[in-house]
Amino acid sequence: LGAIGSMMGSGGLIVMDEDNCMVDIAKFFLEFIIDESCGKCSPCRIGTKRLYDLLCKITDGKGTLEDLSTIEELCEHIKSSALCGLGQTAPNPVLSTLKHFREEYLAHVVEKRCPAGVCKNLLHFVIDPGKCKGCTLCAKNCPADAIMGAVKAPHVIDPNKCIKCGACMDNCRFGAISKH
Ligand code: SF4
Ligand code: SF4
Ligand code: SF4
Repeated sequence: LGAIGSMMGSGGLIVMDEDNCMVDIAKFFLEFIIDESCGKCSPCRIGTKRLYDLLCKITDGKGTLEDLSTIEELCEHIKSSALCGLGQTAPNPVLSTLKHFREEYLAHVVEKRCPAGVCKNLLHFVIDPGKCKGCTLCAKNCPADAIMGAVKAPHVIDPNKCIKCGACMDNCRFGAISKH
């Protein structure tokens, strides 16, 4: 496990698939570290927060290639200077996802796209006019009143109003709505 950048930890194993965003997963593990940090040393207390901020920048669609280098550099500083095992291993989920799923980070940074469809700020819900039957169900279930269209006519989503909740996609019985 050590050779691939992992460790036993509490002995638990989490199985993930293509619907898990690796940048989001790295954020999830950092949130745990930030909560658990005792605050005695600054690499762990401050460094992990800055690391988290950089990951948020990426999942918000504002990340740059330079941020990836900064993240790697910061990870190495935290690993080598934190006082105890918690801080020293805190960057591992970030470094291992960067190593094994770098293309997912690049999709967020370069293409402003979340391949797993998890990062809300990078999602776009679209109705295929060829598949839409104009049943109005999506519009009736949209909490943001973001879908327009007449009965039996193709509907359209207003991206400026959409809060990306996914309710329309769940309610469409014709598979006309997709997220990108
Ligand atoms: S590395 Fe250890 S000592 Fe330093 S802040 Fe984190 S938990 Fe505390
Ligand atoms: S639920 Fe589907 S078929 Fe019905 S209006 Fe919405 S997109 Fe069209
Ligand atoms: S994702 Fe939610 S807010 Fe956006 S159009 Fe669909 S139902 Fe409305």
